[in-house]
Amino acid sequence: MNQQPTLTINEIYPSIQGESSWAGLRCVFIRLTGCDLRCSYCDTAYAFYEGKKRTVAEVLEEVLAFDCPLAEITGGEPLLQKNVLGLMTMLCDAEKTVLLETGGAHDISPIDPRVHRIMDLKTPSSGECARNLYGNINFLTQRDEVKFVIGSREDYEWAREKTRKFSLPTRCQSVLFSPVFGAIQPVEIVNWILEDKLEVRFQLQMHKFIWEPAARGV
Ligand code: SF4
Repeated sequence: MNQQPTLTINEIYPSIQGESSWAGLRCVFIRLTGCDLRCSYCDTAYAFYEGKKRTVAEVLEEVLAFDCPLAEITGGEPLLQKNVLGLMTMLCDAEKTVLLETGGAHDISPIDPRVHRIMDLKTPSSGECARNLYGNINFLTQRDEVKFVIGSREDYEWAREKTRKFSLPTRCQSVLFSPVFGAIQPVEIVNWILEDKLEVRFQLQMHKFIWEPAARGV
């Protein structure tokens, strides 16, 4: 008997997309369990181990039931579970706009080209800078976004250097500069972007202003 492909899922819920160029739109989130990074500022540590094994077919059915045009796959690190590739293709086939959030430490090349990949480049204060897989930059297209989560002036200068070195604004749809919530004043980053005339998109984690910052499932 053929075994059905499965995924370990932390949570599935409808909300408003809170980060990226898609911020503000209705979105169904599919959070996968597990991550092999331990970023200093991680706000989803509950997804490291908590989760339930589900078949990909069940996950697809639940997501489609929300009748929402936008679906985001996040984690944890979703690319640790290979069956996520099939789920993304099924969601694209169902004519959903599919976003994938990844920490940037795993190969993004096998992902269905219809997916919009939102890839972190981990900054020094994350403690996981050494895990960035720079080869991924060669696979970025105008559908994709690169995100820097910035907690200090050192992080900002690092992000600015990588943005320029890899010509990120011409490679992808958006380069996102996002403050570590509670660690740095947003206005500081905004002022630096203006001084340096950077072609990046500043963003706040919108959901942390709509709901309690530590709220889950939003
Ligand atoms: S990659 Fe994401 S989920 Fe993993 S530790 Fe870093 S912030 Fe947390």
